[in-house]
Amino acid sequence: MSALLEVKNLKKYFRTARGTLHAVDDVSFSVEEGKTLGVVGESGCGKSTLGRTILRLHDATEGQVLYQGRDITQVNRRELKQLRQDMQMIFQDPFSSLDPRMSVSQLIAEPLIIYKKCSSRAALIQKVEELMDTVGLARRLVNTYPHELDGGRRQRIGVARALSLDPKFIVCDEPVSALDVSIQAQILNLMQDLQEERNLTYLFITHNMSVVKHISDRILVMYLGTVVELADAQEMFRNRLHPYTKALLAAVPIPALREKQPRKLLKGEISSPIDPKPGCRFASRCPYATELCRTQSPGLEEVLPGHYVSCHRVREINQL
Ligand code: SF4
Ligand code: MG
Repeated sequence: MSALLEVKNLKKYFRTARGTLHAVDDVSFSVEEGKTLGVVGESGCGKSTLGRTILRLHDATEGQVLYQGRDITQVNRRELKQLRQDMQMIFQDPFSSLDPRMSVSQLIAEPLIIYKKCSSRAALIQKVEELMDTVGLARRLVNTYPHELDGGRRQRIGVARALSLDPKFIVCDEPVSALDVSIQAQILNLMQDLQEERNLTYLFITHNMSVVKHISDRILVMYLGTVVELADAQEMFRNRLHPYTKALLAAVPIPALREKQPRKLLKGEISSPIDPKPGCRFASRCPYATELCRTQSPGLEEVLPGHYVSCHRVREINQL
């Protein structure tokens, strides 16, 4: 297995009236081809910004995003347009990401037209129909509009659009969070089938621990713009080591897919991502915080094989 995507020391800062928002702050990881990296954390932790910066929907402040060895943060507009075919995004809310004035066929055809993928109208129609079959949208819906469809079908349009240019890598930003629980599993299963058939690589962003457990090969846990833990999915659920991950995963209910928001288990104020103080970002809520935690940032360290944690006291806390 080789890494399709490698992110190195990526930073995305935003200037605000109150100071500099460190939305993504020195994040590094890689994703192997054909695999899913789940990115979890509470809302506002920077996971969507991370996804968008990887696709260069935001320009990075610092760091590298290597896709098949090429640094996306450095390519010019023309190269970027080429790369965009390979790298797509599925959005959280299919309703607001789809133009309501366009029919299903127009929505699915749009990327194909922009990238001149079909040489004739007949070829375009055929390709749209194939994509509808692929994502399980009945062909009779071809002339309907998004508002006439339920959330699941709208998200199938989003998936069809993302697939239309035959991408290799897809950032999925909370793709099932806006859907009814009964429909979430259908869309997740569709995405898993497509991954298998097409050897797709996913960066799957969610705040839902049940979803991330279901879909991921590896899991990255974010807290206020930083990576606190990174491990294989099974290992993460069996043996979470960071105090934040422990609290986050303690909130996972059974059966799977029930949960909407993680329950609030943590006490203490969330520190501000604007001009953050030195030290561990989690110190204000961590029951184990010491003076060292408040003054020095812990780096991400490989604590067990393939299992990375950013915590000064990880060995003590877990008796490793
Ligand atoms: Fe808690 Fe300190 Fe570890 Fe941060 S570094 S998670 S404050 S023990
Ligand atoms: Mg988000």
